[in-house]
Formats: sequence, structure tokens, C-alpha cells
Amino acid sequence: MSWYHPGMYDAGVPVGSFWEEEAPPLGPGIDRGPVGNETCDVAIVGGGYTGLSCALHLARDFNIDVRLVEAGPLAWGASGRNGGFCTYPPSGLGPGELIARYGEAEAKRFIASQVEAVDLVRALARDENIDLQPQGDGTLHVAHHPAMFAALEGERDLLNGKFGIPARLMTREEVAESEYDSTEQFGALHNPVGFGLQPLRFARGLAAAAARAGAKLHGSSPVALREKSGGWHHLTTSAGTLRARRVVVATNGFSRDDVAPGLARNLVPVMSNIVVTRPLTAAELAAQNWRTERPCANTRRLLFYYRMLPGNRFLFGARGDLTGRPEDAAKMRRFMQRRLGEVFPGWRHVDIAHSWRGFVCMTARLTPSIGRMDDDESVYFALAYHGDGVSAAPWSGRLLAQLIGGKAELADIPAPMRGRPPSIPFPALRRWYLRGALGYYRLRDK
Ligand SMILES: Cc1cc2nc3c(=O)[nH]c(=O)nc-3n(C[C@H](O)[C@H](O)[C@H](O)COP(=O)(O)OP(=O)(O)OC[C@H]3O[C@@H](n4cnc5c(N)ncnc54)[C@H](O)[C@@H]3O)c2cc1C
Repeated sequence: MSWYHPGMYDAGVPVGSFWEEEAPPLGPGIDRGPVGNETCDVAIVGGGYTGLSCALHLARDFNIDVRLVEAGPLAWGASGRNGGFCTYPPSGLGPGELIARYGEAEAKRFIASQVEAVDLVRALARDENIDLQPQGDGTLHVAHHPAMFAALEGERDLLNGKFGIPARLMTREEVAESEYDSTEQFGALHNPVGFGLQPLRFARGLAAAAARAGAKLHGSSPVALREKSGGWHHLTTSAGTLRARRVVVATNGFSRDDVAPGLARNLVPVMSNIVVTRPLTAAELAAQNWRTERPCANTRRLLFYYRMLPGNRFLFGARGDLTGRPEDAAKMRRFMQRRLGEVFPGWRHVDIAHSWRGFVCMTARLTPSIGRMDDDESVYFALAYHGDGVSAAPWSGRLLAQLIGGKAELADIPAPMRGRPPSIPFPALRRWYLRGALGYYRLRDK
């Protein structure tokens, strides 16, 4: 079981995100509510982008009888509350590290698949008529310190030379003139792949598309136990037992051993926090020369990510606390307000209107895990997108549908993402490993 406060897992605790206030509600009948005693071919556990995309593609492209069960309302997890950066790659490894660890061919296959993932989000929006509120042509990776500009040069060379991505360096002056200025802006790398979107609109749009295609979606259906007998999986919920021939585990940072044995103990849920300001005035925008809709992330290991939303509300995100306790949420909010004012002094006085947090999910190898269990080939999984799942998760959900539908093979999964997460020695110590890693990164960032 996880070390975080139980409130983090309680769908009755309000998330408090800006997205909930902005997004149109799900249409009637899409969420069928608690699942009863039902039978299906494929049961999906988890109603975020991974599960919803898998449900959509199974029903639409393979005509497979699928039911999805989600503990909270649909998209209650990370998918309904993230920063909306539709970017890549979903990994804690940089392009050079990927090549060093997996070889050039597999690193290229991985990056190409994740550029495709960003295109998939656009295609889903177009084909399924989802109003994502897209913003920005590409993203900015911003040097937070003068010394980090050289690192961006190296990244540019690799992206241009090895991966064929025309990323472009911008000097401090160029960024200050055409994008924005800040105390932690020392030039940036413009990556043309990626954009910003409204994450809950995307998730609800996927849910509506999956339901139209015939998938049956059940919110308020936490699975307490998964057992197998006679070739059937039995998923126990409070309202009944769902029987299925095959199961997809799409529970990401909320994974538990009783539903995902062999997976959960090797995952590291990490908290990320977001604040959103009230709408900024024209004078306030001018104070930081803010002119861009491009989503930005800086070069800190414990990065800040930020973007201007439609209506000139500013979204600012950072790593979260290590406990999930309500009092630590309040502390993080104060920390974020202070750092927002330090990085953007012109907005020091600006009130925060919304603040919330949630789990991103990591593995020891710092890449996602997609595949089928070795000890039971009827169980599939895709999780751990390292804080970059807006495109990677729907792409992985589609890939699982293709695996189940017989249109893809395990070998189609690029090596960095293939198979179960590697074992973590003494998983009970994960919280302490995380503490150590955060302390180390904090020092490096200084
Ligand atoms: C604050 C924050 C900011 C982020 N910002 C970005 C960003 O800007 N860009 C980006 O690319 N990524 C971002 N991410 C990460 C991204 O949101 C995730 O990688 C992605 O949403 C993962 O989708 P998923 O469907 O795999 O998991 P989730 O959306 O987390 O869904 C898993 C679901 O499984 C359900 N579940 C778990 N156990 C059970 C059970 N036993 N029974 C039934 N249901 C269960 C949970 O309730 C949950 O809804 C962010 C995440 C957070 C938390």
C-alpha cells in the first residue's frame, strides 16, 4: 500500500482544479455508474487517458465487447487534473541518455512513436470532434540559469541531427522580445512538436467517443480485488463482480498490488502541484512582456512548468509534497505563490484562484511500462509516463487495443517502454528513495 495520505485516493475529496470549473459536463448516459454483476470480453481498470483510449479503440476499431471501471468519476485521476502540456518524450532520460542506454535505433523508434503520440491527440480531436482548446505551436524549454543554455545547445544538436526534429535555439534577448521575460529566463529551445490543451475537455471527449463507439464506461466502481478462476477474471466492486476474459491495468499512479500484482510495488507515484491565477490584466501581462501561448518548462531537474491559459489566467506547476497530507497542500500553495513571485516579479501580488495536486508515476528505469504480464497473457498494462502522459497515455491505450485486437505485437513497443517496470529493491523504502532523489536534485538545481 502507498505511503501517501488516504485523502489522495478518496474520490469524495474535491480536486479543486480550474479545469472542472471550465469544462462542459459529460453528456448524459456516458458514465453508467457503479458496475453490477456483468460479463465482458475485456475489462479495463482505470478511466484516465490510457483506459479511455484503449476502450475507444477496442470498441471502434475491433468491435470488442469492453467495459471500463473507474474508482471515481471518469478522468478523476491525473488525466482530469494535469497541466495540459501535450508534449514528449514521457521519460526522465534526455535524448543522449536514451541513446546511451538503448542504442540509437531504439531511441529513435521511441522518440518517433512519441511524436506520433502528439499527432494522435490532434487526430482524435479532429475525428471525434473534441474541442481541446489547443494553444501554441510547439513548446519552450527554458534555461533557468546561464550555464544551462549550453545544455540546450546539446539537446538541439541531438534533436536536429539524430531525431530529425527541427528544434531551434532562441537567445535570452529573442525570448524576452517575442515570448516573455523573467528572472529565470536565459534563452530557450523551441521544440515544434507539442501544444497546450484543456486536459479535462480532452478526457471527457475521449469518454464520449468511447461510449459512442459502444464501450461501456462505469465511474464510481473501485475494484477492490482481482482474482482468476476457470479462465475468467473476477473484478470485485462494491456493487457487483465484473467477469472478463482479459484485463487491462490502466491505473498509473494509483496502482495497488491487489489489482496490479507484480506492477504496483515497482512504481513510484510522485506528486505534482499546480496553481492557476485569476485573469491577468493587460498591464500585468506587459510587466513580464508576456506574448506567447507556447507551453514552457524550465531546465531545473525539479522543473517549473507554466503556460498562459485562454482568458489570461497563468498556470504554474512544480513538484509536489511527499506526504499527500492536507496541511502539506497548504504549504505547497504558499511555496508556489512565493516562487511564482520570484520567477515573475511583476505578478508577485497576483492572487491564486485555484490550486490542486495529483500523482505522476515513475519507474526505476525512468521510462514507461507497456506490455502483457509474463505469468498471465490475458493481463495487459500501460503506465508510468513520467509526467508526460497527455499524449503518451492515449497512444499507449491505442497500442494495447491493437495488441488485444491482434493488429500489433509486443515487438512493436519501442524497447525503452517494453515490459514490466524493473524491480525496486525493498519497495517499502520508496518514500525514502524519493526523499533522497529530491534532495539531490534540489542541490543540483542550485
Ligand atoms: C498535477 C499533474 C500535472 C501533470 N501535467 C502533465 C502535463 O502537463 N503534460 C503531460 O503530458 N502529463 C502531465 N501529467 C501526467 C499525466 O496527467 C498522466 O501521465 C496521464 O494522465 C496518465 O493517464 P492514465 O490514464 O494512465 O492515468 P490516470 O489518469 O491517473 O488514471 C488512472 C485511473 O485509475 C483509477 N483507478 C486506480 N485504481 C483503481 C481501482 N482499483 N479501481 C478502479 N479504478 C482505479 C484512478 O481513479 C484513476 O482515475 C500531470 C499529472 C499531474 C498529476
